[in-house]
Amino acid sequence: MKGNYTSRDLVRLASSRCAGCGDCCRNMGDSIRLDPYDAYMLSFGLHKPFQKLIENEVGFSVANEQGLVLPHLQMKKVLRSATDDGQQAAWECTFLGADGKCRIHSVRPGVCRLFPLGRQYGENGITYFDLEACDMPGKSKVRVDKWLGIPDLDDYHAFKEQWHSFCKRLSQRLAEEDQDTKSKINTLMLHMFFMTAYDGDFYESFEVRRKQVEQILL
Ligand code: SF4
Repeated sequence: MKGNYTSRDLVRLASSRCAGCGDCCRNMGDSIRLDPYDAYMLSFGLHKPFQKLIENEVGFSVANEQGLVLPHLQMKKVLRSATDDGQQAAWECTFLGADGKCRIHSVRPGVCRLFPLGRQYGENGITYFDLEACDMPGKSKVRVDKWLGIPDLDDYHAFKEQWHSFCKRLSQRLAEEDQDTKSKINTLMLHMFFMTAYDGDFYESFEVRRKQVEQILL
């Protein structure tokens, strides 16, 4: 793990030899967690309400020891040919194509856009670091904002900071509650931020909802 990059820094990330191995889309468990912007983009790009996505492509899991529940991309079990002993089972993202490429590249979630970068939240805002998790050779430098490919990055960063802070404070509240209350709080939060479709400008709608939820829960 190295670096403390701003979105305008050049980082050695893009491999000219990346043939879409898809390794970063396999066996990820429930680690590809979604935030409200991801939910909005997936619904928009796939023309599906979030309620439909949870039938197959999205699941819910406990994200931390305080009991915060968040949605994640589902892995599906697939059989692939192995070199010697017939077929081998692997768990793959439901959006990974047979050619090893993402089928929803333009609306893929933030975690996928980041990889192999990580994000950190500090006093001076958001910075990025290299997870050093992709060992494909022949990487060239690319600016972090270009790598992410997210429009209106300043607005996105402001949203990410609010969401990060909200999740942290909600987790502190959850830590003090019994199981039944945790479940009610999570249900309300998921309903407000994920299950209810966003109209108009996402960032404005998110802010309205965040203030409402904070008034009720924090
Ligand atoms: S959404 Fe696309 S990039 Fe992300 S894990 Fe699935 S296939 Fe890979």
